[in-house]
Amino acid sequence: MSELAPPQPMRPLGSSDITVSSLAWGMWRFEGTADDGHALINAALESGINFFDTADIYGFNGTDGFGDAESLLGTIFASNPGLREKIVLSSKGGIMPPLPYDSSDAYLTSAIDASLARLKTDYLDLWLIHRPDILTHPQEIAATLQKAMDAGKIRAAGVSNFTNAQTLALQSFLDVPLVSTQPEFSPLCLTPIENGEFDLAMQHNLTIMAWSPLGGGRIANPASARETAVANALDNVAERFSVSRTAAAYSWAMVHPARPIPIIGSQNADRIREAAQAYEITWTRQAWYDVLVASRGEKLP
Ligand code: NAP
Repeated sequence: MSELAPPQPMRPLGSSDITVSSLAWGMWRFEGTADDGHALINAALESGINFFDTADIYGFNGTDGFGDAESLLGTIFASNPGLREKIVLSSKGGIMPPLPYDSSDAYLTSAIDASLARLKTDYLDLWLIHRPDILTHPQEIAATLQKAMDAGKIRAAGVSNFTNAQTLALQSFLDVPLVSTQPEFSPLCLTPIENGEFDLAMQHNLTIMAWSPLGGGRIANPASARETAVANALDNVAERFSVSRTAAAYSWAMVHPARPIPIIGSQNADRIREAAQAYEITWTRQAWYDVLVASRGEKLP
């Protein structure tokens, strides 16, 4: 039975000279004390994850100001010299919670500066437009990104939740390649396979960062018939390789030829460590398609 090539643990970030792990860790749910946060960071680093994803709105509680997740990370950086340099740090901006989206030059430039100040660092390895702003011309966004790169504030740029046309329009005004796109992708969310985003990513060497790779935890705790069917298809593989179902879910995403990087959302050190089991699995085409069909809820044509 034909087997799918496993991903390498480390790989380049798009066409940049930055090397990232094939699993990332996300800080959407990052909160609490600096000691607890530092323990999670260490759990990720010790298990080979150097790629961290945050955003300026992470930690926003729906009422007052935002930036709490970045501020917590900045506090941890400040009290642990050398830690920042061990991490390939990605952040995002462009949402003024909950609305509007704003990608004007004035707003994005101030958002990048504010992120750097909260993070107590003078550079971001990667910076993404969090969601597309319909009211800003891509030429203006491109000029903003170029300016931030020229100033050394960001080493590379990308997009999140963009349509393919929006990504291509932005790229057409940039002299340097975008390096990353960040869509939702998991065995429960097949959208970027179906809408051509993964094909675009392969064509343009965009590193895919897959958000909510467990469907926000539903793969661990399935509640519907569809989620249970997907969980069962993952369990068939997980049991064969003596790994967790969630590791099988990460691995399922990672063996796609576009090599998506799952952004682990867990804020539990043991679960972060366990994710490395994803490298222990070898997928057959049959088993991979079984998960896909379980998710679709109907046979392929
Ligand atoms: P996820 O991995 O799909 O879900 C993580 C959630 O599942 C956590 O609350 C976790 O709880 C829970 N969970 C329950 N059982 C688990 C198990 N056995 N193993 C692991 N987790 C389990 O990811 P996500 O948090 O929704 O998103 C991941 C990252 O994607 C975010 O941190 C953020 O960086 C990024 N993101 C980006 C966007 C965007 O628009 N670009 C949107 C959403 C997210 P515990 O913490 O208790 O383990």
